[in-house]
Amino acid sequence: MKSQNSKVPIFVISGPSGSGKTTLAEILITSKKLKNKLIRSVSVTTRPKRQEEKRGKDYFFVSQGRFKHLVRVKKILEWTRYLGYYYGTPKSLVDKYLARNLSPVLCLDVKGALRIKKIYPLNAVTIFILPPKVQDLRLRIEKRSRLKPGEIRKRLEIARKEISLRKLYDYTIVNRDLKQASKCLRDIVLKELK
Ligand code: 5GP
Repeated sequence: MKSQNSKVPIFVISGPSGSGKTTLAEILITSKKLKNKLIRSVSVTTRPKRQEEKRGKDYFFVSQGRFKHLVRVKKILEWTRYLGYYYGTPKSLVDKYLARNLSPVLCLDVKGALRIKKIYPLNAVTIFILPPKVQDLRLRIEKRSRLKPGEIRKRLEIARKEISLRKLYDYTIVNRDLKQASKCLRDIVLKELK
C-alpha cells in the first residue's frame, strides 16, 4: 500500500440523500479528461438491493453476519450504520487502487468522510454536495423508488444533520444545475491531481 505521504488523492464525496452525489460521482468517473486517473470504490452493505442497482457495481450486498465478520478481521477501513443497515469501505480495494496510482472516489456519509480524513490526512480530499434548497430534498428523496414514508422522513432528518456539518469539508458544491455542479466537481479533482 502507498504510504501516508503518497500524493495519490482519495476523493470522498458526501451529501444528503437526494443531493445528487451518486449521479455526480458517476459523471466524474466517466469524464474523458480524467481517464485512467479515478476509480469508484464499491462499498459493502447489509441494505437490500434496490431494483435498479447492480451487485458489485453499486454495492457488494452481504448479510449482517458477513459484514460483522469483515469488520472483525479488519477488512473494512471504516463503516457506518444508516437507517438500521451497515455500510463499509473495503480496505483491500482502497489499498489496491492506491498501489496502482489510481485515485479512489468514495461516496460516504459524514462519519465515513471524517474517518477517511483521519486515516489519510494527506490524501483525503472531502467534497460536500449541497442541494439548492432543503425543500427540494424532500421531492428528490420522494422520487426515489420503493422508499416507504417512514424512511423518507428519517432520510430527511439525517440530511438536515449532515448539512449542518458541511463546514468540516474541504469543498462544498451546490447542486443547482447538474451540468454546472459536475464541472465544478471535475475542476476540483483536476486541481487536486496536479
Ligand atoms: P444509500 O442507502 O442511499 O445507498 O446510502 C446511504 C448512505 O450511506 C449514503 O449517505 C451513502 O453515501 C452512505 N454510504 C454508502 N457506503 C458507505 C460506506 O462504505 N461507508 C460510509 N461511511 N457511508 C456509506
